[in-house]
Amino acid sequence: MIIYEAPKWVAKLPARPDHIPIGEFILNPAYGRADPAKSNPPFVCGITGKSYSVTEIAERVEYAARAIRRILKIDDINKGGAQTGFSEWEKVVGIFSINCIDYLTVCYAVHRVNGITSPANAAYNAAEFAYQLKDSKAKAIFTCAPLLDTALEAAKEAGISKEYVFLLPVPGEVTTAEMRKQAEGFRTFDDLVDEGRRLQALPDLQWENGFARKKVAFVSYSSGTSGLPKGVLISHFNMVTNVIQIIQYGKSFRDYSKPTNILALLPQSHIYALVVMNQSEPYVGNSAVVVPKFELVPFLDCIQRFKLSFLFLVPPLMILMAKNKALLDKYDLSSVQLIMTGAAPLTEELSLEMDKLYPWMKVVQGYGMTESSTVVTFTSGIDIWHGSSGCILPGIKCRIVNLEGEDLGEGEAGELLISADNIVIGYLNNKKANDETFVMEHGHRWLRTGDEAVVKKSSKGNQHVFIVDRLKELIKVSGFQVAPAELEGHLLNHPKVADCAVIPVPNDKTVEMPKAFVVLNPGVSPSEETKQELIKWVADHKSKHKRLGGGVEFIDIVPKSPSGKILRRLLRDKERDRRRAE
Ligand code: AMP
Repeated sequence: MIIYEAPKWVAKLPARPDHIPIGEFILNPAYGRADPAKSNPPFVCGITGKSYSVTEIAERVEYAARAIRRILKIDDINKGGAQTGFSEWEKVVGIFSINCIDYLTVCYAVHRVNGITSPANAAYNAAEFAYQLKDSKAKAIFTCAPLLDTALEAAKEAGISKEYVFLLPVPGEVTTAEMRKQAEGFRTFDDLVDEGRRLQALPDLQWENGFARKKVAFVSYSSGTSGLPKGVLISHFNMVTNVIQIIQYGKSFRDYSKPTNILALLPQSHIYALVVMNQSEPYVGNSAVVVPKFELVPFLDCIQRFKLSFLFLVPPLMILMAKNKALLDKYDLSSVQLIMTGAAPLTEELSLEMDKLYPWMKVVQGYGMTESSTVVTFTSGIDIWHGSSGCILPGIKCRIVNLEGEDLGEGEAGELLISADNIVIGYLNNKKANDETFVMEHGHRWLRTGDEAVVKKSSKGNQHVFIVDRLKELIKVSGFQVAPAELEGHLLNHPKVADCAVIPVPNDKTVEMPKAFVVLNPGVSPSEETKQELIKWVADHKSKHKRLGGGVEFIDIVPKSPSGKILRRLLRDKERDRRRAE
């Protein structure tokens, strides 16, 4: 077995508490967080500037938890506390909101009553959100005024009545008068905090040592290596581990002694934002400046106003920064020391271009996935290699294997496997996906990432991980997941479609877009009109990032293996050759 690990100069991963919820770890100085008196407020609204101190957040968690206990009719918050895994009695709450400063606070409040939160992509339509609510068996929803319509439709579909729908306060600037009117009568998170002040205090959580390793904190949705989106069971300990891994590694090139402000623009429902921006940064005493949506001018204003030092982005936002140099030059962006991208590949060309345009901002890249509670590798500021996803974080073992499962050495590309305490518990109710994705070998449990990687040594002697291709079915549009199987299933419901396959194609703005190869039913005309009809069929029923931006191509037969598996690689090669020839 050939194992790749963190460089020698990264301090070893220390022991971490495995008897407390993630919120307690992030907020309570007893567990190593920065001194609250010397910290910046954990979350600051990037529009209004509103924030709560660490102490206020801890208080809001406690009060809201009392109200949530009453809403969910929980007699004994510790019931089932010593049980393992995920069972019917769990108290699951769906979170469907644009970014706001209370997002993590409500999650921590649900955890305080031994509950689980299931964050959903705010770009989802009602059917997509309803799928997640039903699959995770959510009992209540926290949403926000701009998404209330969609949330109510999904709630109805999932059998959740209106009194179990609550609102997270979002800045007035992102709501219209109509939205505010519709939101009247719904209870807000602030109402629950107020109500909790008058309710009986909660008993302590009775978690024995080791319980946080098996206790689910978040059910996030990811399609993994194939099929439809699945509930990923992320434990409290998975998250505690990743926070410490990120900081331990970050210490090699960041000064954590002075609190600073970082950009928290990426959707809080996604693991990258949830762990990296909104938990690791507040833990070290920094403010996550929470921005609900991306618009170039307000984004630049926000950097200037809050003197942001770290920008966490995805490649499409870097493309915008590279293309709008003249506009960026009108703002004082001198505070920005580092831009970190992740969630999708950043090309060497773009990384070099950014370096040339904005030489004072170091551009680094991270690699991770929902199934690893995010970060597995990232570039340290002391050994930047454009195009690389950096070195491995402490406490993580990686292997690269070929199709036969044989271990590969430096310079050889194969599937990346990972074993560590940040690898999640598994998928919810999906034995097949669990057996395929999490495998025991040589006494360790390995996550099969479905990503093709190669390890190379830098001039400074460090092993860097390069993600060179994706072996799995996933498509990533602006960092959002699109599962080909979901779009294929939907297209097959169209009366004109006999068979189909969906693959990613490159796109200048979003990095990738879905493209459909379609076999039409006999007698249907392969016309432009039919293509547009199918594009509309997806656009009308799926959220925006899933639309067939890569177009539709008619084919006679979908290439398949003898077992019926779509041979996507053949279609991707065909597409690549066609684009090269153009
Ligand atoms: P998600 O679970 O939504 O975070 O998606 C994880 C997937 O995004 C990974 O398995 C990769 O396919 C892709 N990904 C994340 N970071 C990178 C990166 N730095 N380079 C290339 N692909 C990435």
